[in-house]
Amino acid sequence: MKELVFATNNLNKLKEVQSLLPDDIKLLSLADIGCKEDIPETQLTIEGNAIMKATFIKERYGYDCFADDTGLEVQALNNEPGVFSARYAGPQRNANDNMDKLLNELEYKKNRSARFKTVIALIQDDQLKTFTGICEGEISKTKKGDQGFGYDPIFRPQGHIQTFGQLDLKKKNKISHRAKAILQLCNYLTDIE
Ligand code: IMP
Repeated sequence: MKELVFATNNLNKLKEVQSLLPDDIKLLSLADIGCKEDIPETQLTIEGNAIMKATFIKERYGYDCFADDTGLEVQALNNEPGVFSARYAGPQRNANDNMDKLLNELEYKKNRSARFKTVIALIQDDQLKTFTGICEGEISKTKKGDQGFGYDPIFRPQGHIQTFGQLDLKKKNKISHRAKAILQLCNYLTDIE
């Protein structure tokens, strides 16, 4: 049995990924390895932060590990908020404030194209590998729906008339940036078995 840390405390995420992995890989959460400290996320790119988190765990705790980081890139805003998505409207990390700020910034813009990007960084046997999942879409004019979290009520994925906030969570999880990155990671781990 190989142990691999997923640098998260979200047990739902952990269970979801575990169910997609071969039986001889056992995922451990941050709580499982006794990590209670805040993992630094001070890089200026989504990829940089994912790598920073995975490296932190490997160096401090010695486990092979993967970490994810996600951001919303809005074309008309030079790909902002990007790596700053969680704290776009300030350190309070409030989803409503973030959405209001974004809707405000886009008020007079024609181009509302945006994409969610998730990067997973895996450190295994001292090798680093990254996997990127992208979900293209656009920012709606108003908030719609109350499913999901973060920017979901204002993000309409390509090919859908509903926002992520209106979509059933199961549907979102099939087409999301995160799902795509996780699938690549799981395929990779299955292939090298
Ligand atoms: P994290 O890297 O997964 O913590 O994501 C950073 C921030 O991006 C979150 O705080 C949310 O604001 C936003 N975000 C990430 N994933 C999603 C999503 O699936 N829907 C909406 N917002 C998201």
